Amino acid sequence: MNAAATVRLSLALVLAMMLASCTPSGSAIRGDGSPPDPVMGDWQGHRVTRSGVVVPMAVHSIALGDGRYRFAAYIDMREPLSEMLFEGKIDGNRLIVSEHPDWSVTLDDGTVSGRTTQPEAQTFALRHVVRLSPNLGARPPEGALVLFDGSGFKGWERREEKQRAMPVGWKSMDGVMEVAPGAGDIVTKQKFTDFRLHLEFRTPFMPEAREQARGNSGVYLQGRYEVQVLDSYGLTGEDNECGGIYKVGAPRVNMCAPPGQWQSYDILFNAPRFEVDGKKVKDALVTVVHNGIVIHEDLPLPGPTGGALDTAVQFPGGILLQDHGNLVQYRNIWLVELKP
Ligand code: MG
Repeated sequence: MNAAATVRLSLALVLAMMLASCTPSGSAIRGDGSPPDPVMGDWQGHRVTRSGVVVPMAVHSIALGDGRYRFAAYIDMREPLSEMLFEGKIDGNRLIVSEHPDWSVTLDDGTVSGRTTQPEAQTFALRHVVRLSPNLGARPPEGALVLFDGSGFKGWERREEKQRAMPVGWKSMDGVMEVAPGAGDIVTKQKFTDFRLHLEFRTPFMPEAREQARGNSGVYLQGRYEVQVLDSYGLTGEDNECGGIYKVGAPRVNMCAPPGQWQSYDILFNAPRFEVDGKKVKDALVTVVHNGIVIHEDLPLPGPTGGALDTAVQFPGGILLQDHGNLVQYRNIWLVELKP
């Protein structure tokens, strides 16, 4: 199979899994509560073109604050319809799309529907859906090291050596840990070489914030290679956005869920390899599964990313979680050490 066919197959797989994991918004979100915003999130349905053809359609709706949203329309949440990127503002149950004044759009009981005022009317109707990671709640297998089970910070310490006698400073409540802005990064006392890591995270709802200031944290493998945590919901998926290996590799597909929703990372890490004289013969390799979908597969990591704990890449390192000033939460963190 050639590369293009592999990519197409991967995208088809992504689509199938995305659709399989869609549930109506009315169903329970595993006790995680209602989404923080009724318009934000995934919408799915169909549109009817001028010639009467029914086409599947999906929309990511990004909250921008003050009743404003940015919408990215897709066929099947897959192919971006670049001509259908637009912004709108909620006014009661009406959605005002300033760039398309010929569209009348209303929001009623979890359905958004629209029609053009032109003689050859186009219409669409979309239902709010929630895509949950199938990996949420994954239990640690036998032999796994539970790094955080919700009961506190045993096994963790502050990043800064001078502060290590102090408690980590982050909050722990209801089985969840939360960044305490200003308390600094935290890192496991135990150090690892090759491993498989599972963790779950949730970015805060910060509609007014933008880019790197919007729900930023990060998971540093061996304290050196950052798998970015950020609210990048609905964006293109860059190497500094959620799922990116910071400034090294962009995710194959942006699997970021809306803020306020729990997400999962399942990460396979192989440390770099060295000759006895210390010469590196193989880069570290990382595979990342974000919300059940492979977004990096054996990606070589040429060196530590920005903000790394150290550059001693030939030695084991801990799992570091970043304090980037935002109230990001983590839960259910466990790791399986692999034999080098
Ligand atoms: Mg970060």
